[in-house]
Amino acid sequence: MFSIKDCPAVSLAFRGNAVKLATFSLKGQREPRLGAVDKSSALILDLSSLGVQGGMLELIQDGEAGLDGVRKLYDAAPASAWMPLSDVALHAPLSVPRNIFCVGKNYYAHAREFHDSGYDAGSKSGDAIPAFPIVFSKATTAVIGPQEPIPSYLDETNTVDYEGELAVVIGRGGRGITQTEALDHVFGFTILNDVTSRKLQRDHAQWFIGKSLDGFCPMGPWIVTADEVADPHALDLRCFVNGEKRQESNTCHLVFDIWQQVEHLSTAMTLEPGDCIFTGTPGGVGAAMDPRQFLKAGDVVRCEIDGLGHIEATMIA
Ligand code: MG
Repeated sequence: MFSIKDCPAVSLAFRGNAVKLATFSLKGQREPRLGAVDKSSALILDLSSLGVQGGMLELIQDGEAGLDGVRKLYDAAPASAWMPLSDVALHAPLSVPRNIFCVGKNYYAHAREFHDSGYDAGSKSGDAIPAFPIVFSKATTAVIGPQEPIPSYLDETNTVDYEGELAVVIGRGGRGITQTEALDHVFGFTILNDVTSRKLQRDHAQWFIGKSLDGFCPMGPWIVTADEVADPHALDLRCFVNGEKRQESNTCHLVFDIWQQVEHLSTAMTLEPGDCIFTGTPGGVGAAMDPRQFLKAGDVVRCEIDGLGHIEATMIA
């Protein structure tokens, strides 16, 4: 069988002073702007109008110096500089990640359910719980904003499924990063829905196509910087379909934790600023339900992680 690691009984995962960095556009405009969201998640500061050059990727590449500049603007901004968040459209915080590395079957409960679901092309060989991280990619063209509709009609097999997940955004790049060094290379954390066509995932054996349909990656609503997250392995996450809770777990149940993931990846390849690691989804996906429950037009999918916020998208026909 498998083992579940003990989670901390009391989670103090956040230091409660989060800097939330968003990409957004003003109503009626398309031009992406860089913003900082206040602690109450009700207001946004337009960093682009305050002289910050470039977008999220450039900010990540600027490292600590860039973040220090943002913090100074955040602390010094007069009340009049803040806009209601409801007045802007949020984009994916990093609209084109440099790379997307996804880790499959990386929560114990999901590894077992997916192994038994009939959609795991590799299930005939090997155990339900992988001995090494299963790493695949997802096309960056799949990325959409946190509230944008998901074009479920692009999957002609009608086997669209949800996967609520924690995403790690790499800050400082590197190769040969050890687990103990990994935190220093993380810029921050955000939420994504690793939307998947289960039939395409199975038929093509390699998961890339089934994971990469246009619009099959809502991300956001913002990036919470790593220094504000005291323990990324103590975060509760949930996913709802039309208000019904389908997934509920805690990042302490990752098979390979974030530091192990960074070490495995960077042993093989150089990680660069703006790379994203999708850490895996917990149990409760539609393909593993009895009977199976795939997403259909009109369904509303909400993924949330305590302290990070939520993303919510409607499936469109
Ligand atoms: Mg996934």
